[in-house]
Formats: sequence, C-alpha cells, structure tokens
Amino acid sequence: MAEVDGATLLARSLKQQGVQFMFGIVGFPVGPIAAAAQEAGITYLGMRNEQSASYAAQAVGYLTGRPGACLVVSGPGVVHGLAGLANAQQNCWPMILIGGASPVYQNGMGAFQEERQVQIASPFCKFAHAVEHVHRIPFYVEMAVRYSIYGRPGATYLDMPDDIILGKVDEAKVHAAATVAEPPRFQAMAEDIDKALNTLEAAERPLVIVGKGMGWSRAEDEVRKFIDRTRLPFLASPMGKGVMDDNHPLSVGAARSHALAEADVIFLMGARLNWIMHFGLPPRFNKKVRIIQLDISPEAISQNVPAEVALVGDGRAIVGQLNKALESRQWFYPKDTPWHQAIAEKSAANAKQIQPMIDDDSAPTNYYRAFKDITAWLPKNAVIVGEGANTMDIGRTQMANADARLRLDAGTYGTMGIGMGFTIAAAVAHPDRPIVSVFGDAAIGFSGMEIETACRYKLPVKIIVLNNGGIGSGMAEFPDDRSTLPPRAMTIGSGYEKVMEAFGGKGFYVDDPKDLRAALDAALAHDGPALVNVKLHHAAGRKPQQFGWHTT
Ligand code: ADP
Ligand code: MG
Repeated sequence: MAEVDGATLLARSLKQQGVQFMFGIVGFPVGPIAAAAQEAGITYLGMRNEQSASYAAQAVGYLTGRPGACLVVSGPGVVHGLAGLANAQQNCWPMILIGGASPVYQNGMGAFQEERQVQIASPFCKFAHAVEHVHRIPFYVEMAVRYSIYGRPGATYLDMPDDIILGKVDEAKVHAAATVAEPPRFQAMAEDIDKALNTLEAAERPLVIVGKGMGWSRAEDEVRKFIDRTRLPFLASPMGKGVMDDNHPLSVGAARSHALAEADVIFLMGARLNWIMHFGLPPRFNKKVRIIQLDISPEAISQNVPAEVALVGDGRAIVGQLNKALESRQWFYPKDTPWHQAIAEKSAANAKQIQPMIDDDSAPTNYYRAFKDITAWLPKNAVIVGEGANTMDIGRTQMANADARLRLDAGTYGTMGIGMGFTIAAAVAHPDRPIVSVFGDAAIGFSGMEIETACRYKLPVKIIVLNNGGIGSGMAEFPDDRSTLPPRAMTIGSGYEKVMEAFGGKGFYVDDPKDLRAALDAALAHDGPALVNVKLHHAAGRKPQQFGWHTT
C-alpha cells in the first residue's frame, strides 16, 4: 500500500478544505510543507517576515471567505506569527497559523527553537492543537478550517512537529475528513424582527451603523435593499465602508460625530461599540440612545450599552428577513426631516473647514491637498489599503469605497505593520483589481521589506507614502546633536521610492503637489509595482477635531 508523509497530507487537506493561499517563510522544519503545498496546487508566497505573512493570511481570509494559511518555523517563527493571530481574532477574520515544531521525542530537552507553542497561541485563537499522529492530519485541518469561519470568524493554530511532517503512514490508514461547507446562516426570531422595525419606526433621529461583519457575511445586496427601502441614514465603520456606497446620499460619513451624538435610535449591524465607536457612551453618543444590535455572536450583544432589540445570527440572513417583513409595511423614514437637515448642515460645515487645505498648492504639501489628487486619480474598483495615523484617518474620510470588502486598514486592534501583508494579500485575492496602498512614512517602516516580495511575484501594487518625516509629525531640520532627537522623528526626506527601485519596481519622488498627479498616472501606467513618495510639510496634520480620538 502507498505511503504518504505528513507534509503531503497537510497540504492535500488544506487544498481539500478550500485553502487557496499560503504565506510563509521556510526553514526548519516546515520546508517540506511549502513544497507539498505547491505540489497540491496551493499558491505559496514566500514572505520576508512572519508578521507580514500572518497579516496576509487573514486578509485573504476576509476577502475570499476561506482562511488563508500562514506557515512559520518553530520558536521565534511562531512568536512572530502571534502578531497576526492576535490581529485576526480582534478583527474577527479567519486564518490558520501552521507552526513547525521541534520533534516530539526531543520535548523538554532544550531542542532547537523549542517553545510551548500551543500554549502561547491559545489566547489568540478559537482553536489551537498539536498534531500528534500523521493519520489524523485531515481531522485537525477540517477542525481548524471550520472553527475559523463558523460563528464569529477568527484564528486557529496547528502545531506540526518535525517528526509528524516527515512521518509516513499507509494511505489506507488515513482518517478522511469531510469538506467544510459554507458557514450555516441562521436567522433571528420573527418577533425580534418586528420589534426592530417598530423601534426604527418610532425613531426621530435614526442611524444605521454598518460594520465589517456585514462585509464578511456578504450582506451588501441585502443592506443596500434595506437602506433604499427604509431610507434610513447610515454610517459605515472604517472597514464597513463600501457595503453601502460611500457616495450614497444617505451616508452621514461627513457628519459622523454629529450623527453619533444626536441619534436617538441606532441600528448596529455587524459592528461593535468598542473604541472605534467611542463605546457608545456620552459625550460621543446620546445618553438615552436605544440600540438595536445585529451580531452573529450572542456574547457580543449589549457590550457597553444594553441592546433593546437583539438580532442574533447571520447578517445577510437577518437583513433579508427585515426586507421581507418590510414588504407588508408602508413605513419609510421621511425625506425632509430636521435630522436630515442637521446632518446636511454639519456635512457642509465640515467640508468648508477643510477646503482651504485642499486648495493650498504650496510645497511641501498637506494631507488634504495630496488626497485631492489621489482621490481624483484612484481607480473606482481598487482595493484600498490604509496604514498610519493621520494618513489612515484622513484617507478614510477622503477616499470613497463604492463596493464591499475593498478597504483594509489597521482595524480593531489598531495594528501598525499590516500594510504590506494586506497589500500582497489583496493583490493575490483580486488579481483583476488595482491595489492602492496609502502609507504614512512611519507605517511603511514596519513591513517595507515586503516590497521585495511584491516585486518578486510581479504584483502590480501601487504604493503611496505620505511622508512627513515622523510618527504624527516630523522636524523641519535635525539638530547637530542627534542624541536629542524627539522619539517621533524620522529621517527627513527619506527616499522610500528608491527601496522600490532597489528591487526592480518603479519609484517616484514628489516634493511639489503640482507634480503629484503626473506621478500617480505614471505609477498606474507602469506594468508592475510602483511607489510614489510624497513629501509632506513636517507639521501636516488633521483638521481640528471636536473630540480627542480616545474620548469616551
Ligand atoms: P467594525 O470594526 O466594522 O465596527 P467589528 O469588527 O467591531 O466591526 O464588529 C464586527 C462584528 O460582526 C463582530 O461583533 C462579529 O461578531 C460580527 N459578525 C461576524 N460575522 C458575522 C455575520 N456573519 N453576521 C453578523 N455579524 C457577524
Ligand atoms: Mg509620518
């Protein structure tokens, strides 16, 4: 009878379970797994740092609906990969981390890169397990895939000791596993559907908040139908952007703070009242706000603010239920209300406030002037990746998303370092879409060496660096005594475009905004990766905010 080794069995199982992409770095003991993955027809991308590989795996998970795999070596490789596990758990995105491990028979002896890997992965996982028999590999892979996408999605971990990777079994003895079906979709109770609609009908100042849970559940058709039918104003969360078109007339994006503070009924759809949503508490929210909450996770209901109506289940299924129930109702939210008017006035005032910065052509430029050209140039079907503080925050308000799951950023965990991993994931998951990644100069430092990866695989990603020479802000000039440099400062005028050129891509340096559009056009026209490094004024920042970012 034919024998099969652990690496081959793992690769075949992943392929069977619909895992299309593996990101990793080879070394002891996982080399055979990468080779077997390629043999099995999984696309393998060799990365430069395990953190980026782990970020890439979860981004393809979110974008494709099946978890990405991340392959790392034992010990330090697994420790680096934990960054991605933590981020995936926080974002509720699926991924599988596969860690090589020292051979079982050396456990406790001080083996090369020996670590308690299952233990350290567990706090960041829905499921973590060490594979102890070669013939049970398909069983554990099925479990890891199922746990990653069923219920609230998240991260899983499989530990693969060297002797399991190289171990062989009779193919006849292998325990076959069923292929994990698409996540089952479950609905809310009919009386709660009615209660939700009654509550919305009673609202004077209603607001729908659309989160990335709706993106994950592929609910865009249902949510669009719901908003168009009810005519309710809506706010997208940072990565919920695009489930509804940002340019939809009912979007309150330009009057976000006002809408949150004044709404009397909020329908929270696949979003959490965490720090991003100011915990749902005053002064950012109305003290008496009534919450309708839709979430797949029962434990998430009433977090921070008690929900008056709980709709527990799948986002797409439940909004479909609401749409059905609306067929027998006449009600919709009227067009000419003081609420609409107040939001329109606030949006106009906010637009007026930033207009002088948009119109300012002086060099070096500011964020808003840079985004004027970037937005006008941005291909409508692009996947947009944003990373940095000001760059990401301002970019989110300026760059519109017309469709779901086309925005990736630092997310729930506020992670700096996701940028190039997400960029590479977007490029392989969406080979037909342009990928545009806008980084701050500090942000690109975390994952910049992955530019080599993008060049090696000829991924035609377009990277823009908004370069103010520091974290938050930079300096006009460095003092002679460098020991006194402020902690936030980075080299003035760093040539990030030359990093791109070093690996064979195309680089552009722009120090006057009048040259920006031409550089962006040339970058897009270039048949391969390109980087446009835009020098910003060292003190460029956000427009003045009514509240500090961490206000509750
Ligand atoms: P955002 O950052 O966009 O506000 P969060 O990540 O905070 O989004 O919240 C997303 C929520 O969506 C999570 O509480 C998660 O449980 C929920 N969720 C995940 N999958 C689904 C689904 N299929 N249907 C409904 N809700 C979901
Ligand atoms: Mg900066």
